[in-house]
Amino acid sequence: MGTPSAGQIHRLGRDQLASWVDALLGERKRVFAPVLRRGLRVLRAVERAQDVDFAPGRTRWSPKEFLFPRTETLFSYENRDGVPVLADPPADDVPRILFGVQPCDAAGLVRLDSILLQDPFYARRRELTTVVAIACSEAAPECFCTAVGGSPAGQEGVDVLLAPLETGWVVRALSPKGEALLAPRRGGWETAAAGDWEAALEQAGRVAGSIGRRELPAAWAEKLEQSFADPIWDELARRCVGCSICAYVCPSCSCFDVADEGSDACGSRCRTWDSCSFRLFTQHGSGHNPRATQPARSRQRVLHKFAFYPLQHGGRAMCVGCGRCIRSCPVGMDIHAEVVEVMSGRPEKEAGDVQR
Ligand code: SF4
Ligand code: SF4
Repeated sequence: MGTPSAGQIHRLGRDQLASWVDALLGERKRVFAPVLRRGLRVLRAVERAQDVDFAPGRTRWSPKEFLFPRTETLFSYENRDGVPVLADPPADDVPRILFGVQPCDAAGLVRLDSILLQDPFYARRRELTTVVAIACSEAAPECFCTAVGGSPAGQEGVDVLLAPLETGWVVRALSPKGEALLAPRRGGWETAAAGDWEAALEQAGRVAGSIGRRELPAAWAEKLEQSFADPIWDELARRCVGCSICAYVCPSCSCFDVADEGSDACGSRCRTWDSCSFRLFTQHGSGHNPRATQPARSRQRVLHKFAFYPLQHGGRAMCVGCGRCIRSCPVGMDIHAEVVEVMSGRPEKEAGDVQR
């Protein structure tokens, strides 16, 4: 949570934030922001600022679907008198802004980059996207960003950071994209007072201090990898039902399947989110499944995030501690507690008997 080296800092009143969103929409940018829908806080394309819920905090789903859609067409085909004709999906070149996401979600996009940037569809959307994050003003019980190197005011993957003040917001660009987004506004915005930025960081520091979950150090990756055959995994994961909601809500899970839909005459090739927690994810055509049990599949998800990926990516976990998987799991699985359990060599005895 350091201080960025460049960039003027501004202070905005509450109404000015909404005016800024309206101005962005007026410039024909697509803005995805938190809204309340039937009691859920979700990210949606908005058409007016008054629909936006500007409060800091978690949305039900992560923003990954706006760069890596739940399902998308890679190409379509048509049989024209025996000649196959391929067509790309329509180009979507509208600049878009992820407005009001959490810092951990911005960091999640950086994890996705490491896997998906080589894909031209993802790369194009990423290039067109500017991330405006809001620093968290409180932590939910499931949050553990600080355990994996993040912060309630984290800057990884953030182009513009907003932080709440008592009377409004402090705003700072953290990247060239962020600078470009703020440049047209600077003339009309008040420069932040001395100490505003520091006050915002202090508040984030208090939120960080309220996160009670212990650090999951990068140095654990090797030992976790060595736990592969440990029977503790059967104990830990036996109640997992394989629903995969944990992967679907996760900002850093990137597994997908590719399938052809159609007939001899026409059709398309689609890419759709998938999950290593599904039985069919690894099942071979022969019927053999190398991850034959649910605990084996559950182990894969945890070890991929905290052992295999970090060992290949400089020690960084493929988890940003957003806590969504813990919040959403129908049987109370807790990925942070699982890692702690394996490292402490202590099989889980009963739900809640976990030193976090
Ligand atoms: S860990 Fe929980 S959310 Fe994930 S697949 Fe198992 S039961 Fe479903
Ligand atoms: S594994 Fe869970 S806590 Fe970690 S980033 Fe994914 S959803 Fe969030």
